Amino acid sequence: MLLDQEVHAAEFERTFIAIKPDGVQRGLISEIIARFERKGFKLVAIKIVVPSKEFAQKHYHDLKERPFFNGLCEFLSSGPVIAMVWEGEGVIKYGRKLIGATDPQKSEPGTIRGDLAVVVGRNIIHGSDGPETAKDEISLWFKPEELVTYTSNAEKWVYGNN
Ligand code: GDP
Ligand code: MG
Repeated sequence: MLLDQEVHAAEFERTFIAIKPDGVQRGLISEIIARFERKGFKLVAIKIVVPSKEFAQKHYHDLKERPFFNGLCEFLSSGPVIAMVWEGEGVIKYGRKLIGATDPQKSEPGTIRGDLAVVVGRNIIHGSDGPETAKDEISLWFKPEELVTYTSNAEKWVYGNN
């Protein structure tokens, strides 16, 4: 029989979030992590990595026909990226809300891009846009054993018991 927490853990979805090289260089790692953490989402994987250009092309393969594709991949591979997996109820969709619109000129104040970025080419953060991309991106960036399953102490207060 599953314990209550294990039932919860099994239900939670996961999303891939990356702080891009501009966010890292601007000293925004803790600011960005804090927003996901304070919301009540749970960090289950994290690493710092400089992706190769080939890897960046894989990550952004959906955009390969776009005029900015090459510059985007060069930029993503230009320095350290913080790669993370966050877990929680509705985390894929709500993570995108925390992040804000792609173009920071259109992101609402209060969102990460709205508060901390100015132009679309330097919008500091990536977040998966749906369940399928979340699955693909998590497996591109992380080995299964790099993801940690645990019950956070806060969970019963974030979710309650009923
Ligand atoms: P996201 O899911 O909100 O990150 O947006 P997309 O998946 O549409 O695009 C991926 C990334 O490509 C964005 O986060 C931007 O960094 C970049 N990007 C998107 N549109 C443009 C654009 O019109 N010009 C430039 N320079 N970069 C763009
Ligand atoms: Mg996208």
